Amino acid sequence: MSQITLALSKGRIFEETLPLLAAAGIVPSESPESSRKLIIGTNRPDVRLIIVRASDVPTYVQHGAADLGIAGKDVLIEHGGEGVYQPVDLDIAKCRMMVATQVGFDYQAAVRRGARLRVATKYVNTARLHFAEKGVHVDLIKLYGSMELAPLVGLADVIVDLVSTGGTLKANNLEAVEDIMAISSRLVVNQAALKLKHDTLQPIIEAFRGAAA
Ligand code: ATP
Ligand code: MG
Repeated sequence: MSQITLALSKGRIFEETLPLLAAAGIVPSESPESSRKLIIGTNRPDVRLIIVRASDVPTYVQHGAADLGIAGKDVLIEHGGEGVYQPVDLDIAKCRMMVATQVGFDYQAAVRRGARLRVATKYVNTARLHFAEKGVHVDLIKLYGSMELAPLVGLADVIVDLVSTGGTLKANNLEAVEDIMAISSRLVVNQAALKLKHDTLQPIIEAFRGAAA
């Protein structure tokens, strides 16, 4: 029996993954929210979880430090997806990637007159592609969080960020002005592990697929 390592991040992805793990017969022996451990055992002696930053999940899987992982489409696009299969859209941690501006900024007019836009975002690859496809010239400003602040203090004209309820935008006098894409989390699998540990991995992948459907 092969040893399997699954990379997860804390927070919403962990919460929403618990039912999928249960469907695969995997029950974590403690919660990463209350434990400080970064390696967490499960009821199955051949399966362990590692707790990593959401944006680091593809990196652990790409290099084979984890056989499997769960990562948002946003994170996978920024990573590039090299070395990882994405066999199942789990349909969890759903939100949208959007362009947002301060209320009152006429985004459509700025686009129409061909203005150069300053775009603050954590998602520079996604943003670069989106504005290139629209033919809009942009100066990208990389941020690591709290994107909502950037237009309020004059760092940027627009932000590209994830939006679910829109509550954070509203609380900061911002509004979504363009929808870029729907985001959900995917199961990712190391390509070499899928071959070498196929007999152990395949039933886990199928259980996730069945539970997500
Ligand atoms: P950190 O909080 O450690 O800086 P993060 O913001 O990437 O990292 P989370 O906030 O846990 O981590 O988000 C993890 C994933 O959940 C994101 O990559 C995205 O796919 C999804 N997500 C983010 N925000 C939302 C949201 N508001 N609603 C639903 N899903 C979301
Ligand atoms: Mg976050």
